[in-house]
Amino acid sequence: MPIEKVVKRTTFAQSDRDDREYWFCRTPAERTAALFDDATKRSVYEKQTSDAKAKGKSNCPLCAAGPDANKGKIYELREMDADHVAAWSKGGGSSANNCQMLCITHNRAKGNR
Ligand SMILES: [Zn+2]
Repeated sequence: MPIEKVVKRTTFAQSDRDDREYWFCRTPAERTAALFDDATKRSVYEKQTSDAKAKGKSNCPLCAAGPDANKGKIYELREMDADHVAAWSKGGGSSANNCQMLCITHNRAKGNR
């Protein structure tokens, strides 16, 4: 099916749409525009991590909020991935103020929702 048709079929109105689903309907250039660059990820990571350490919590907000053993875990940057707070497909931008770092487990779980 041509890309244009797929894009048309999957409208922006779907409220539970996730970025990852959206990846499949975009061209590579459009996907790149929706990604956070490394500098953004690193600055968000550093802020989240210093806040988390100050509070004695995990630097993954979902781990910190959860009941499990990772509650207080500080992840390395390479163990985390960037997540759009407001989904890119719903108009959320790819700047630091719309970026949060999640541990890879939580980032994947979010994508498969
Ligand atoms: Zn987590």
